[in-house]
Amino acid sequence: MTFSKTSQPSQSAPFACPVCEAQASFTSIQEYMTGKALFSLYECSACKVQFWMPFRNPGADWYEQRGDNTIQEAVAPKVRRGYHKQILSLSDTDLQGKKVLDVGCGTGEFLAALQARGCKVWGVDFDHIAIGVAKNQFRLECVFALTLGDFFKNVSLPQFDIITCFEVIEHVDNPLRLLAYIRKTLQPHGRVFLSTPSRVRIAARSNVWDYPPNHLTRWSEEAFSNVAQKAGFQVHNVNYVDQFRILLESMQGSFQTGLVKKVAMSSGSSRSRAIKTGLIRFLGVLKAYALFALPAFALWLYGKAAGKKNGSIFAELRLKG
Ligand SMILES: [Zn+2]
Repeated sequence: MTFSKTSQPSQSAPFACPVCEAQASFTSIQEYMTGKALFSLYECSACKVQFWMPFRNPGADWYEQRGDNTIQEAVAPKVRRGYHKQILSLSDTDLQGKKVLDVGCGTGEFLAALQARGCKVWGVDFDHIAIGVAKNQFRLECVFALTLGDFFKNVSLPQFDIITCFEVIEHVDNPLRLLAYIRKTLQPHGRVFLSTPSRVRIAARSNVWDYPPNHLTRWSEEAFSNVAQKAGFQVHNVNYVDQFRILLESMQGSFQTGLVKKVAMSSGSSRSRAIKTGLIRFLGVLKAYALFALPAFALWLYGKAAGKKNGSIFAELRLKG
């Protein structure tokens, strides 16, 4: 990864904001180059969302090739994430018998945990390898390997009591449409829980996953609230989760990603590559803790004291009354 030092952005600003659709003004924030692809980050004066141009999701193949979802459950079960814990710590009254949809459910361990709490669960993810794990390993039935468009338009769905959508909105190339789909399938008194990395967190530039084409947008609480309101929601509650974990990841920088990429490109069956990648990631996590836990902890303490909005924004949305 290199950062261009030119004063002129490589990609020109759009005519209208790709997030809120306003013909606003756009401030150039940052340049990014990966391989031969050049990206420019802009901030919209109307919705305050920052977005990368070109504004395009790389599609399911790109994500499946990275294999993040498949190795995740072996190495770091996703239910340990802060946003999952927030939901799993809801009372039995809030969960039992409730119909829950997880958008971007990956391999489904979170849905399996919800099912064990008495929820009726649905899930969608466009990574069909991850959905295979959800079906075979976690025995989930209502999980679909589809794009969000195909899922919401073509699958017969109930009205949900709870819809969760964690670390998804920053990947999609039409956040308003995502929120419209969610709104359409929500009970009138339903609850929506979304999370996305806070762009004002400490050392945000060192998180290798926060660049295009992986992430297309960057969010602050204000930006998030603007777009939620435009989609017919009101922000009911905001919290910050995974503050330490994300700081730790910025401390370790690109070390483990480089290695994982090499293995991902190497020959061998996809199964053996997944195991090797998982192992390297696991060692990477060990090394990260050994080397970086202390500085990350110091930053975390500082962040707490200084009121920094670290980690991921975790917001509960409800329909506008
Ligand atoms: Zn905008």
